[in-house]
Amino acid sequence: MATKQDYYEVLAVKKNATLDEIRKAYREAALRYHPDRVPHEQKKEAEEKFKDISEAYAVLSDAQKRALYDQYGHSGIDQKYAYEDIFKGADFSSVFQDLGDYGVGGGLFEEIFSDLGFDISGGQGRTGKRPRRGHDLQVAVDITLEEAATGTEKTIVLPRYEICAVCSGTGAKPGSKKITCSQCRGQGRVVVSKGFFQVAQTCPRCGGEGSAIQTPCSECRGEGRTKATHKIKVKIPAGVDSGSQLRVRGEGEAGSAGRGDLYVVVEVRPHAVFKRHDNDILIETAISLSKAILGAEIEVPTLDGHVQMKIPPGTQSGRVFRLKEKGIPDVHGGGPGDELVKVDVEIPIRLNNQQRRLIEEFAKLSGEDASGSSFTDKIKRTFS
Ligand SMILES: [Zn+2]
Ligand SMILES: [Zn+2]
Repeated sequence: MATKQDYYEVLAVKKNATLDEIRKAYREAALRYHPDRVPHEQKKEAEEKFKDISEAYAVLSDAQKRALYDQYGHSGIDQKYAYEDIFKGADFSSVFQDLGDYGVGGGLFEEIFSDLGFDISGGQGRTGKRPRRGHDLQVAVDITLEEAATGTEKTIVLPRYEICAVCSGTGAKPGSKKITCSQCRGQGRVVVSKGFFQVAQTCPRCGGEGSAIQTPCSECRGEGRTKATHKIKVKIPAGVDSGSQLRVRGEGEAGSAGRGDLYVVVEVRPHAVFKRHDNDILIETAISLSKAILGAEIEVPTLDGHVQMKIPPGTQSGRVFRLKEKGIPDVHGGGPGDELVKVDVEIPIRLNNQQRRLIEEFAKLSGEDASGSSFTDKIKRTFS
């Protein structure tokens, strides 16, 4: 094995270079050695150099790989990573973000690397001929608090793209021939100039196919897909809350490598009576003065019908009673929440003569005079 050059030397940075300095050095070197920017006879050499600087960048821009390299050198990296894995997870695209006018964003680097013979995209190709999974879709669904408590099933009406049944997604009229793409002459790629800088990118006309459709399918107008409305039944589990996301696998849009997923975002509508707090539900109820004083049994609504609740004698206004496990079930399978009942004691606004006499009597028996001051208040006043 030939002696490998030190990564720091490759990028011409100091051992203690910051991530910013490393990115900057890589960017400058990559622009200098970009295979599309050098004369043809130097291409091979530039490609090698480009690979070397990219490898150095991939290691030094990753804290873990960099630490491994600093401690054990090349052998540390080589023992832990296969050559291609060195590049995985490295952020190439943002280095050139501000040059993003190529219309391909991070795809620029996938293309260069795939030209050099390997795939840094982790298998998720985004341009050219690589098969693509369909887009994920997101849909919002409104449910009531009662439905959130019991779980429910909703039918979602979803317009989404389907592979065209007439042309099976090719976009060509059945039986018609494909012709070589005129823009890229069948190469699938075109070279675009951007100032002093040239880069090959996926042919915009044929999308990298290299061929074009002579007669487009009349059903999908050559798009290969059609928009259709679907009804999808979605089970909503008990215990969901506003913002809960349910993933329905394989119900997104169609792509050549299968369907994307559908994400159902739940919104629980506010309830007229109950307030929700996590898995507990809160309710306020009014009781009469005499019930608060004497104690009583009152009827309280819950999510599954009314229950009787005991109010002990001497209940103060604002006291909260807990009805165990009358709240919302836990969506992860834990125990259900409680219902919290806050009682407000209603003070009568108008009294008839008899009620008034009785309350005055009550006051007297409690040591208060009819004006409302208590006996002890009077003593305090006398001595102050
Ligand atoms: Zn079609
Ligand atoms: Zn083309």
